[in-house]
Amino acid sequence: MLLILEPNTDPKSDEYKELVAYIDKIPNIESRINTVKGAQQTLTEVYLIGDTASLSTDDMATLPTVERVVRISQEYRVLGRHDMDTRACAFDYNGVTFSQDNLHVFAGLCAVDNPKNVETMLKALKEHGQVCTRMGAYKPRTNPYSFQGHGDSCLPWVFELAGKYGIKVIAMEVTHDNHIDEIAKALKDTGHPTGVLLQIGTRNTQNFELLKAAGRQQEMPVLLKRGFGITLEESLNAAEYLASEGNSKVIFALRGMKTNMGDPHRNFVDFSHVPVIKRLTRMPVCIDPSHSVGSRQTTPDKIMDVFHVTAQGVIAGANMVLVDFHPDPPNALVDGPQALHMNELPYFLEDVAIAREAYEKRRALSDAFHK
Ligand code: PEP
Ligand code: MN
Repeated sequence: MLLILEPNTDPKSDEYKELVAYIDKIPNIESRINTVKGAQQTLTEVYLIGDTASLSTDDMATLPTVERVVRISQEYRVLGRHDMDTRACAFDYNGVTFSQDNLHVFAGLCAVDNPKNVETMLKALKEHGQVCTRMGAYKPRTNPYSFQGHGDSCLPWVFELAGKYGIKVIAMEVTHDNHIDEIAKALKDTGHPTGVLLQIGTRNTQNFELLKAAGRQQEMPVLLKRGFGITLEESLNAAEYLASEGNSKVIFALRGMKTNMGDPHRNFVDFSHVPVIKRLTRMPVCIDPSHSVGSRQTTPDKIMDVFHVTAQGVIAGANMVLVDFHPDPPNALVDGPQALHMNELPYFLEDVAIAREAYEKRRALSDAFHK
């Protein structure tokens, strides 16, 4: 059972203390408190776990500071959308709002290679009004002899360059809990010129200790990729690990499934699941067209498959697009063949805007129909 408290409830108030004291006395019930700080208000949710079947939602709704009571299913307690409840799930990070209602493009390098390429990318993003990017410092590679990323040594200059070009959020993969500490330390040492969205990749979707570590810290939000060979339910449970440890600032990313049925794409594009994630959970949904398609192949209309699948995800309501670009793809150290080129950045952004506009029109049409 979930108790949603009145916005901005003060944990030091007598009413709040009375509520907590009441809950503590209910037998066989444990409580967990989740606080979500938004730009306008702070929301407190109290999760009651255990023998909640005997509790009446009407009685619980009369307790001090309680605004609403939702009976939740066992699945995805924090991140789930129980009984189609309409709670907003927006969060702000470093001045950027993430929600199921808006859209951000995270164009950038699959892997950080050198300051020149990083600066070229960031400068182009600024010129096109972008405040988010992707930059991998720790790369999980299939082959142990492949470039593994520069690791923490590149963090200070990457963060300083990001600050120079007004980048507010960098999606950066972590593969070990040490990496989270290294990123937090580098952000602190450089005076927080930017922010980091911790990315947990498809190879680590069920790395539960990594999920717990990313969930224990509540400063940086987390972008969790869907596991490439597990069920959707298993991946959504992995996301819930983050929230169960205290970090509900989670974005869920679709990046294609590993199966030969997806050939000739690198993975079987799964962006038809954008609405499914929105129905089952309150997480913003990201699509990664680069790692799904894995090539620059085009159709006879000269539109690349990467553009087509991006449009398919965005027109279905995706909230974030993670996409590989590179200033010098033949010399990129990771994933050069799938990278978009710098002169394609405004073209890509415009194409995304067209698809987003179409989604917004579809939403207005649906609202009119259901009025
Ligand atoms: C990536 O985004 O760089 C990446 C490695 O993606 P995935 O975990 O989806 O393979
Ligand atoms: Mn890659």
